[in-house]
Amino acid sequence: MNMKIRKGDLVEIITGREDDRGKRGEVIKVFPDEHRVIVQSVNMRTKHQKQVQSQGRTIKPGIVRFEAPIDISNVMLVCPKCGKITRVSVVRNDGKSQRVCKKCDALMDDK
Ligand SMILES: [Zn+2]
Repeated sequence: MNMKIRKGDLVEIITGREDDRGKRGEVIKVFPDEHRVIVQSVNMRTKHQKQVQSQGRTIKPGIVRFEAPIDISNVMLVCPKCGKITRVSVVRNDGKSQRVCKKCDALMDDK
């Protein structure tokens, strides 16, 4: 399994819940083993937090909103150069793997 999506990438939701489809957001966490990612402000869930004590701090009760992981196949990478959703190819350059946009041929990781 070649993980082509990394933390910090901009992705677009291409399938899934109707209210999330078409949204773009930054990948804030990647779970390579589960093929899942967490995307900022996408797949929001709420949970009811009970008051708990944790390491001397009190966590207040209430409703907590958080992003739930989504399957990586539900998202597509957005190219930072051309702004389109795209597939990438991976090239080796100086021993590092770099991703190349298949639409505009721009290197995505040229930092
Ligand atoms: Zn591009």
